[in-house]
Amino acid sequence: MLVLKFGGTSVGDAKAIRQTVSIICNQARSDPATTVVTSAMHGVTDLLIEAAHAAAAGDRQRSRDARQALISRHHDAAEALVSDLDDLNLLLAGVDERVREFERLCMAVAILGELTDRGLAVISGMGERLMAPILAAAVRAQGLSAEFVDAGELIVTDDNYASAGPQMEATRDAARARLLPLLANHTLPIVTGFVGATPQGVPTVLGRGGSDYTAGILGAALDAAEVQIWTDVDGVMTADPRIVPDACSLSELSYSEAAELAYFGAKVLHPKTMLPAIDQGIPISVRNTFNPSFPGTKVVGRARNGGTVKALTVIRGLSLVTVAGRGMMGVPGIASRTFAAVAAQGANVLMISHASSEQSICFVVPEADAGHVSAGLQEAFAGEIRRRLIDGVTNERGVVIVAAVGEGMRGTPGLAARLFGALGDHNLNVIAIAQGSSEANISLVLDAGDGDDAVRYIHAAFGLAGTQTPA
Ligand code: ADP
Ligand code: ASP
Ligand code: MG
Repeated sequence: MLVLKFGGTSVGDAKAIRQTVSIICNQARSDPATTVVTSAMHGVTDLLIEAAHAAAAGDRQRSRDARQALISRHHDAAEALVSDLDDLNLLLAGVDERVREFERLCMAVAILGELTDRGLAVISGMGERLMAPILAAAVRAQGLSAEFVDAGELIVTDDNYASAGPQMEATRDAARARLLPLLANHTLPIVTGFVGATPQGVPTVLGRGGSDYTAGILGAALDAAEVQIWTDVDGVMTADPRIVPDACSLSELSYSEAAELAYFGAKVLHPKTMLPAIDQGIPISVRNTFNPSFPGTKVVGRARNGGTVKALTVIRGLSLVTVAGRGMMGVPGIASRTFAAVAAQGANVLMISHASSEQSICFVVPEADAGHVSAGLQEAFAGEIRRRLIDGVTNERGVVIVAAVGEGMRGTPGLAARLFGALGDHNLNVIAIAQGSSEANISLVLDAGDGDDAVRYIHAAFGLAGTQTPA
C-alpha cells in the first residue's frame, strides 16, 4: 500500500495534471492499493489567503479578482482533462458552488471587519477542495476507478485552526473506516491535502505546506509501505536549487536529517512530515513529477553518510535578541530566568547561543516575535538593568540562519572551523553560531543580505555539487 502526494506545481495546470495522472495510473496498475493526496493548484492558497486578509481590511475587489482567477484556472483544467460531458458538467458545477461559498465567506469577513483563525482555515483550505475532485475526474477519464475524498472526514485535529495538530488515534480509525473499503474495491481515493477537521467537524488546516504532512499522517494511519512526495525538483538537494544552481539531489537522508533541513527552511518537505512515519519506519521518498524516472531521495531511519555536511538551508525573516552584561557571569539562575522569560512569550525560538564567557545569551526568533520577546526580557531583568548588572536587551532585526546539516558531522572535528573559514575567505561576518545537541546541525547567524552568498560559498568549499551517490 502506497501514499502518493502531489504538490502545487504538479497540479498547477492541465499539462502538469496530465503528467501527475500518468504517474498515478502507472502506480495503480502495479499496486491498486494506492491513496493519492493533492495540494491546491500552485499559487491558489496564496490567492485565497490574500483575498481573505483584504476582505477583512475592507477591500472587496481582491476577492472579486480572486473569484475570476479561481473559476478560470479550475474550469480550464477540468475542460482540458475531462471529455465526458456529464462528468465535466458535474465537475464545473462543483467548482462554481465552491467559489460561491468562497465569495460568501469573504463577504462575511468584510462585514465583520475581522478575520479569525477559524475563518482563515476554512478559506485557505478551499484550494485543495477545488483541486481534488478535478484530479479524481482526470484519473477516471483514463479508465481507472477513483473517488474524491475530503480529508475533513479523515484527519481529526485539535482546534488550533490555522496550524492544527492531528489526533492520531481518532485519525487512524476515521481514515481506515473511510479508505480501506475503497481500496478493497480497487478505487483510488483522491484526498485533499492540508485540511482536517476538529472532532466537532469544524474545518482546520495543518499549516502552510501541510499537504506533505497529510501524506505522512495517512501513510501511518494506513500502515503504508511507502509515502511518496512528488514535487518539482529531483528530491531533497544539497541546497535550494534557486540559490545554488549546481545543487545536487541526495539519494538518502535519515528522518532526523530531513526534519532538520525542513525545520531550517528547506521548503521541499513540511517539517512535521516525518513525525508520523518514524514509529513504523515508513520510508518517505521525494520524487520529481517532471522527471519521474529519476529515483529522487529516500528518507529512512538510518542513512549512509560521508562524515561531513550533507546539505545547507537558509531561514529568513529573523531577529537576534541578546541579553548581555557582567551580571550574567556565574550568577546562578540567570540563565533559567532568561529562558523562562522567553518561554512565557510563547515565541518560536529557532536557536539559542550562549557565549562561552557567559556574558551573553542570544535567541533567534521570527521578526514578528522579537518585540514582545525583548519587552518580556526587559521586564524580567528590570532590577538587574537598573543595577547595571545587565547592560540591557538588544534586538537585531534582519538576520538569517544558515544551517549545515548531516549526521556524519557528529564526531568529525574541525567542521565549524571549516565553515568559518569558507565565510571568512569572503569577508562574511558570522554574528553567532550554535551546534545542536544532536550534532547533526551547525547553525550560523548572519546578516540577511549575506545568507544566499554564505550558502553558495559553503556549498563550494565542501564540494557538495556532484555528491549524489547512485541509488
Ligand atoms: P510542492 O508544491 O511540490 O509542495 P514546494 O514549493 O513546497 O513544492 O517545495 C519544492 C521547492 O522547495 C523546490 O522547488 C525548491 O525551490 C525548494 N527547496 C528549498 N530547499 C530545497 C532543498 N534543499 N532541496 C530541494 N528543494 C528545495
Ligand atoms: N496548499 C497549501 C499551501 O500552499 C498546502 C500545500 O501545498 O502543501 O500551503
Ligand atoms: Mg510543499
